[in-house]
Amino acid sequence: MNPSPGPVRGSLTDPHRTSGSTALLHVHLKPAAEEAVRTGHPWVFDQGIRKQNRPGTAGELAALYDRRNRFLGLGLYDPHSPLRVRLLHQGTPVRVDDAWWRERLQKAATRRAALFDSQTTGYRLVHGESDGWPGLVLDRYGPVLVLKLYTTAWLPWLESLQSWITGLFHPRNLVLRLSRNIQSLAAQRGAPADGTVLHGPPLDQPVPFLESGLTFEADVLRGQKTGFFLDQRENRRKVESLAAGRAVLNLFSYSGGFSIYAARGGAVSVTDLDLNPHALEAARHHFALNRPQFPNPRTTHHTIRADAFEWLNRAPAASHDLVVVDPPALARQAAERTAALRAYRHLVRQAARLVRAGGILVACSCTAHLRPAEFFELVRETLRHTRTRWRELCLTTQPPDHPAAFPEAEYLKAIYLQAANQPAKP
Ligand code: SAH
Repeated sequence: MNPSPGPVRGSLTDPHRTSGSTALLHVHLKPAAEEAVRTGHPWVFDQGIRKQNRPGTAGELAALYDRRNRFLGLGLYDPHSPLRVRLLHQGTPVRVDDAWWRERLQKAATRRAALFDSQTTGYRLVHGESDGWPGLVLDRYGPVLVLKLYTTAWLPWLESLQSWITGLFHPRNLVLRLSRNIQSLAAQRGAPADGTVLHGPPLDQPVPFLESGLTFEADVLRGQKTGFFLDQRENRRKVESLAAGRAVLNLFSYSGGFSIYAARGGAVSVTDLDLNPHALEAARHHFALNRPQFPNPRTTHHTIRADAFEWLNRAPAASHDLVVVDPPALARQAAERTAALRAYRHLVRQAARLVRAGGILVACSCTAHLRPAEFFELVRETLRHTRTRWRELCLTTQPPDHPAAFPEAEYLKAIYLQAANQPAKP
């Protein structure tokens, strides 16, 4: 496939120049927002704006200025979100042209070049703000790339994005995914819908790919995120290394990723629990696909379709040797934090109850509104009130293909603890 030259959406950020017939959008910031931008933070909220020269449209480039009218940076304007400008560049003026964008994409690719061998063909190529592409991710599943947009600001850039991506990576397919909150806005603007194949032949089957030599399939058109939770790869590898001889329970399993690694690590049984029947069907399929790699041919696989919170309340105690708890984000907004903290404490307490003496608990959180240190402390504090003594094995955060360049981007964290062989004396 040859890269086709796409339309060029260039702009000068020199304040004295204009872009086309309309004056470049100038956004003047309040002191706190100005300070945040100067220190490299990529978000400007609506309340951080002091004035602007005119209303902006979705996806326009906005030049940011400080209180003394000095140029601060350049961002993508989004009138539909309180997160009004997402920074693309901070510092002195730059010319944003096709070559600039292509170089930025190349940089993200170069950053991953040494991370994976041929046994891992599914990973994140572009991770939003932290790769200089705010509100946008690009995932690879073998020959298929999935572009996911979290802001309408990228919709006017779709043709260019397609040209840059296919020009650099030459994928067989490029699929577009839209986060739920922008789907109706996208439809109103006549943009391609969530799940549109932007490039390549029709795609009606899940896409197979390798992760650490294991075969998985991603439902790139309809699955959660872009079809798979690529961010848990390193935790899965760790679980594999801890699983030998253990009965493993995988709570919030999705398509069974943790269980497949545990089975290859020699688990005696793996149990996937999820609310979503399609996820469990995929988990059964993944187990069958990878069975030849399991050292113990008698490893059993069970699936339970249930609400994990309800199921845990009635599950028998001390039933498993390794329990993974990986719930969805429990707070989508800061206001939901208190409820989320309560839910995490409850989950950790209940999951810990199922762990046998000498067993392991792996507690994960993908809630961005909960900092890693807070989550780790929450888990430790919760376990202090159990009758078991727990030994901390390790802590993990973001995987290398999901870098975090600012605090809010550090959403993923996990803590591994082992229960003492004997229950603590009361
Ligand atoms: N551990 C998974 C990713 C988990 S994502 C992996 O490695 O791939 C969170 C999962 O929780 C989703 O599959 C979702 O369907 C499921 N889920 C959400 N709420 C749930 C609930 N109350 N009970 C059980 N599963 C739930």
